[in-house]
Amino acid sequence: MTEVDTGDARVRVAIIGSGPAGSYAAGQLLSHSATELHVDLFERLPTPWGLVRAGVAPDHPKIKSVTRIYERTAEHARLRYYGNVEFGSDLTLADLRAHYNAIIYAVGTPVDRELGIPGEDLARSYAATDFVGWYNGHPDFSDHEFDLRGERAVVIGAGNVALDVARMLVLTHQELARTDVADHALEALARSKISEVLVIARRGPAQAAFTNPELLELSELSAADVIVDPDELAMAGGTGDAEADTKARRNVEILREYAIRPQEGKPRRVTLRFMLSPLAIEGHGGVDRVVLARNELVREQDGSLRAQTTEERIVVATHAVFRAIGYRGTPLTDVPFDERRGVIANTGGRVVAPEGVRHGEYVVGWAKRGPSGVIGTNKKDANDTVARLLEDFGGGRLLAPAPISDAALDRFIRERAPNVVDYAGWARIDRHERERGASQGRPRIKLTRVQEMLAAAKRR
Ligand code: NAP
Repeated sequence: MTEVDTGDARVRVAIIGSGPAGSYAAGQLLSHSATELHVDLFERLPTPWGLVRAGVAPDHPKIKSVTRIYERTAEHARLRYYGNVEFGSDLTLADLRAHYNAIIYAVGTPVDRELGIPGEDLARSYAATDFVGWYNGHPDFSDHEFDLRGERAVVIGAGNVALDVARMLVLTHQELARTDVADHALEALARSKISEVLVIARRGPAQAAFTNPELLELSELSAADVIVDPDELAMAGGTGDAEADTKARRNVEILREYAIRPQEGKPRRVTLRFMLSPLAIEGHGGVDRVVLARNELVREQDGSLRAQTTEERIVVATHAVFRAIGYRGTPLTDVPFDERRGVIANTGGRVVAPEGVRHGEYVVGWAKRGPSGVIGTNKKDANDTVARLLEDFGGGRLLAPAPISDAALDRFIRERAPNVVDYAGWARIDRHERERGASQGRPRIKLTRVQEMLAAAKRR
């Protein structure tokens, strides 16, 4: 007997991506009191929470505890979680436009920005994005290998990702073994010979992108001294900037303390260098050295300070380079992309094509504004986009798909993506990982392959 689908006049929103931005957007839509909105949350991996699972460093469990908020959202009666569904292949934009009143892209900015210098592609020159994905057990990076047999590594960039990479390279095995770091990384890092990590900032201490707690945290490393050359700090001119903000002033204070603090003779070192730009990465068969230019700061017309290279060169021998200079988005099939900014083309969260606003399509998080801010920044960001969506809803500017019942839509999605992992499936993966971890005093032992995740999702 054929089931007759009389449909259902629900207002449906599809969110693509279950990281912080997508999860906050879902929570805000569900708490909208005037209309009962229904949210389907799609995720490419079987596991949710985006960069909270695959980006936040394993030694930052407090930051990861934000997932409790996302869990409450995901358990809401009007939300359905569809893991292991890829936008553009399993489900197309046309599919979503046919079934949802609105689509919110929350896909982040997944790839590394390029330095654009010779030698960037040499063996042992690594994108921080790859290293971060690898140590966090992201399935796309689980087979990567990192050669940690040299004594020195150079990290290019002065942001929090550079600090995450530096810390991960100098934490002890005991410290790492308490975390949810991927097992393959735990083993490889235990064999690492790296004893010195140089973090290279192209501008001065007052312009560094580190946040205060992350910079201060270096002082807590049990096996690594933090080294800052007082002459280099002075050369950069301290804050150098009367209007330097609170974060910058505090960063400068912390760095000054590091510069005068006696070294404790710990076996490893993290050295922070300033006013240096990489010009080339050189070596035979792999990275042997980095050629750096000494910089000076030049004030631009808009008041900002830009690094400008001088004639002075510094050559640093190193076995590996980690490039941590920020992330970039990648285009989604059929979705307008702003190549210059590396984000989905949008104004205030409304997706825009060359011919004008794409009604019913929205963007949140890094895919909207670029890779900036901390996790909480995505809350306000999502709120702003959701407000636009609700305005458009009020104004009758959302999509008007043919009504469909929850069950029929669910069947349609499962036909397109037969290996969907629903929230109960994720809960089983989660429990399995936590149980494996508990036996070793760890928060969880992550599954790092999609097939293993699918098996755990089905296990009763
Ligand atoms: P970021 O904060 O934007 O820092 C990028 C760094 O790379 C800047 O110091 C930048 O210097 C430098 N850079 C850019 N292009 C360069 C080039 N061509 N040569 C040399 N240096 C270059 O990016 P991120 O570290 O990837 O972090 C992304 C976001 O995630 C940030 O908002 C960060 O705070 C956040 N995050 C937070 C945490 C945490 O809260 N614990 C952890 C990780 C990441 P200029 O300033 O001179 O451009």
